[in-house]
Amino acid sequence: MSYPSAPSEPVESLRAALSGPRRCAIVTHYNPDGDAMGSALGLMHVLRAAGHSVVVVLPNTPPGFLHWLPGAKEAIAADRDKAGAIAAIRESDLLFCLDFNRPDRVAGLEDALRAHPFRILIDHHQDASDFTSITFTDTEACATCQMIADIVRALGWEGHVGAEAATCLYAGIVTDSGSFRFGSTTAHTMRTAAWLMERGVRITQVHESILDDNRASRLKLLGFTLNDRMDVLPDLATAIISLSLADLRRFDYQPGDTEGFVNYGLSIRGIRLAALFMERPDMVKVSLRSKGGLGVDRFVQEHFNGGGHRNAAGGQTKESLADAVARFRSLLPAFIESNPA
Ligand code: 5GP
Ligand code: MN
Repeated sequence: MSYPSAPSEPVESLRAALSGPRRCAIVTHYNPDGDAMGSALGLMHVLRAAGHSVVVVLPNTPPGFLHWLPGAKEAIAADRDKAGAIAAIRESDLLFCLDFNRPDRVAGLEDALRAHPFRILIDHHQDASDFTSITFTDTEACATCQMIADIVRALGWEGHVGAEAATCLYAGIVTDSGSFRFGSTTAHTMRTAAWLMERGVRITQVHESILDDNRASRLKLLGFTLNDRMDVLPDLATAIISLSLADLRRFDYQPGDTEGFVNYGLSIRGIRLAALFMERPDMVKVSLRSKGGLGVDRFVQEHFNGGGHRNAAGGQTKESLADAVARFRSLLPAFIESNPA
């Protein structure tokens, strides 16, 4: 079986950087998702097996549905231990930056990141900014975890991938590819998943841990959201969900509870664009999902101070929830009309 390989130049630079035992820190983006956590922890296990010391540092605590990932409990989250997180970055020889490509995506850890002398980027988002000594960026890759599997093979490190590493990497691929159904899923994605399965992933356990671990209150919030807080605009092929702080409080909201809600909008027949507006204490978080050539990353960059991928992007605004939704609605006709199906 052959695989497209990771590019040889950064692989050789990485091989040289890891030529002796190193102190490695791995950081990922604010509000870490499955791919962020899977890639950080997967790489942590692999680097440890290769004889390096490794700490995973997170800008904030991940949602509960990712706490089962092997090694998640040892990660240092800056919202609980900012001094420890900064010290771990400062005391490392190499700083791996995974699943993000702009320094501000690590929020309160940005200064520590910028002060680090040797940064390595592995990421699949659009428009990487140039802030690392070694850079792997591939906007075609369905997940950062898939890139890590490629890099590990290119290094000849297959023997360092045990069941724990494989499980983390597989979990990131599953979450970022929407369980192997988004357009970013390729034959190579499937081969990578098979390769990870051969290394000990128990796929039923992974899928159950991610998908079948709901609190009843989360499902009730979903029911309420779809029934009372979703606006379907058939003429604009768009579905808009908006949730206020009061809505979230009513259903005992925990971080991560609205993960995936925006995809329900996109699952409606004829809908090409789905939006989720969520009120937070200090801002409104915006999530957009789209189908086909309707690119939401630029739209979010231009209007909601964010970014992401062509069909999945997020941002935020300081407006009120109602103002944010109203502005979005006013932008919609031109956006949809300039991107016909
Ligand atoms: P989500 O809508 O699930 O928060 O994020 C969807 C995609 O957009 C993810 O790939 C995520 O990394 C990216 N994204 C989410 N929020 C932001 C943001 O505030 N800024 C940027 N640059 N990307 C974001
Ligand atoms: Mn990702």
